[in-house]
Amino acid sequence: MTPLPLPTDPPPLFQDLLVEPEEARSILRPQKDERYGFGFALSPYRGCGHGCRYCYVREYPNALHKPEDWGGWVAPKLNAPELLWSQRHRLHGQRVFMASATDPYQPLERQYRLSRRCLEVLLLCPTTEVIVHTRSPMVLQDLDLLKAFGPRLSVGLSIPTDDDTVRQAVEPHAPAIPSRWAAAERLAAAGIAVTVGVAPLLAVHNPQAFARRARASGASNAWVGGLRLLKQDPFYKVLADHGWLKVLDPAYVEGIRLAFREVFPARRRVRERPEEPEPPPPPPIRQPGLFDRVS
Ligand code: SF4
Repeated sequence: MTPLPLPTDPPPLFQDLLVEPEEARSILRPQKDERYGFGFALSPYRGCGHGCRYCYVREYPNALHKPEDWGGWVAPKLNAPELLWSQRHRLHGQRVFMASATDPYQPLERQYRLSRRCLEVLLLCPTTEVIVHTRSPMVLQDLDLLKAFGPRLSVGLSIPTDDDTVRQAVEPHAPAIPSRWAAAERLAAAGIAVTVGVAPLLAVHNPQAFARRARASGASNAWVGGLRLLKQDPFYKVLADHGWLKVLDPAYVEGIRLAFREVFPARRRVRERPEEPEPPPPPPIRQPGLFDRVS
């Protein structure tokens, strides 16, 4: 693939963000623990502009050089699509999760379009399934591309609370909760399998209405993941200051799970294993989407 000339300076929108473009040495991280349900994780960025206050990724080795400034820097992996193409032989029959250590549709994706370009490569790869996981309705800008995967792709939307004031306190740079519901609805209406990830579970205003909202969005699945936190973690104090320590109580987590089980009674897996794919065609010549407008 012919690399595109990519910007090295952040656009005005991201002036507060330290952008450190890099050439990655690897792009596919194997996941050997079968409980995760995927074979490879793919992260087109290092760091994440959403900067969620609870984010565990700041503890990862590749983020440890600036843990205190989590959300203030991002390293776009400029060669991610080309590297992925060179590694496509590893993907036969694999499920790929995008992304485990960043949000593929964080604000910088508007400029760099690395997630889109990686998806364009994945479309040509013999994967069993691609799971795109995000907090952002920006995923809709690639709706046509997502649809092109058919049942080979699903989208997970993180919606950890029904209360946008909680989101503002905890995920201040991530999109508002109503915009995530709108994204879930549009994806589901387009025939894409959507899973709502209530994770990590934050304070919830009305568990039953929250679960019903998830169902009404057209999502086919939902899961609830409790927060695990040590007292010395700075986020513990955030929870305590807001009176939200209940989210650490297993009984609270179970109560929310029950509310979701009532409206998602059986785990409906809509994904299907596709027929054995054709061998991949030659690499794409076009490198579209770099400066596509975000609607
Ligand atoms: S969106 Fe995900 S990766 Fe990004 S800061 Fe939030 S939890 Fe971390």
